[in-house]
Amino acid sequence: MDLLNTLVEKGLRRELPTRDEALAVLATSDDELLDVVAAAGKVRRQWFGRRVKLNYLVNLKSGLCPEDCSYCSQRLGSKAEILKYTWLKPDEAKKAAAAGVAGGAKRVCLVASGRGPTDRDVDRVSQTIEAIKEQHEDVEVCACLGLLSEGQADRLRSAGADAYNHNLNTSEGTYGDITTTHTYADRVDTVQQAQAAGLSACSGLIAGMGETDADLVDVVFSLRELDPDSVPVNFLIPMEGTPLAKEWHLTPQRCLRILAMVRFVCPDVEVRLAGGREVHLRSMQPLALHLVNSIFLGDYLTSEGQSGRTDLDMIADAGFEVEGATTKTLPEHRAPEAGGCGSHEGGCAPCGGEAAPEPSEVLAARTDLVAVRRRGAGTDLAPNA
Ligand code: SF4
Repeated sequence: MDLLNTLVEKGLRRELPTRDEALAVLATSDDELLDVVAAAGKVRRQWFGRRVKLNYLVNLKSGLCPEDCSYCSQRLGSKAEILKYTWLKPDEAKKAAAAGVAGGAKRVCLVASGRGPTDRDVDRVSQTIEAIKEQHEDVEVCACLGLLSEGQADRLRSAGADAYNHNLNTSEGTYGDITTTHTYADRVDTVQQAQAAGLSACSGLIAGMGETDADLVDVVFSLRELDPDSVPVNFLIPMEGTPLAKEWHLTPQRCLRILAMVRFVCPDVEVRLAGGREVHLRSMQPLALHLVNSIFLGDYLTSEGQSGRTDLDMIADAGFEVEGATTKTLPEHRAPEAGGCGSHEGGCAPCGGEAAPEPSEVLAARTDLVAVRRRGAGTDLAPNA
């Protein structure tokens, strides 16, 4: 298939595909799916071998957010019956992080609900970062605290944070449909503040919110331009009690096409399979390891993932290996010392394939696969790691 040969060549050269080529990946047929995975897998192996980096989420503050992001169970007015609690103490967060590190996590992601941190919140998170680093010198710490105000990224960097996450989530054109309390430009600004402070930027997307192929390509091209080191790809978990509870649009095959497209457009960055993998990829998760080089171990912020042990077994059974603490994740040319930038979610088919249907078709809801998190941070029960 000429399309795939072209995309592999471009990926190996870190050259940007055209929008039509990215759209064509999303428009491939089920008959072509394994060829698409194999092609994007070549690009993945060129830059990351068969290594899988494990990230571990610690939800420092859960629920009660004043923002209205429609996909989020922690949003203003959410009726989702999630755990709700205010800031974990540094010792509690350290304990949760230790469970993830013991399970093989190389990066701990400290996440808090809210529009953005106050200066006092930054103090609190700084103490938590220091406590984690004291115990695990090599572990990477990523903060995800919402929109940053001036100077806060520098303070987090000084406290030892390695990375900052803030997702673009969806295309600029549709951003106003999913959130009204802040803008797409606010999000871009925070990612740029993190980069300017020397934090490794992590910024990704959420697929499955009823967007078109063109929207997906838009957000992924915007991410390439923003040049984060990590791109988490979330698949919407339509939680009961949120406005998007009925938005079941994703099949395992579509998830794999989306991940392949992200890999072709962002060949040499950490592409991280994030929330929703168990719910939407289901038994196809191992195939996704040929496309992404990173996953979250264990549970998500407000929902449960499969057991940490099952994650580790899946990686080994699929022929991949967990990335060790001392191995550099990013290719040499992206390492900060090499001048790299250092690290929160229309059809056209030039290959002759049929244009993909607009993904507005609603599929059967798999609410049986969605479990609200009831263990780990903020509870008395052991974390899943
Ligand atoms: S995504 Fe973040 S800012 Fe938006 S509602 Fe959820 S916790 Fe709040």
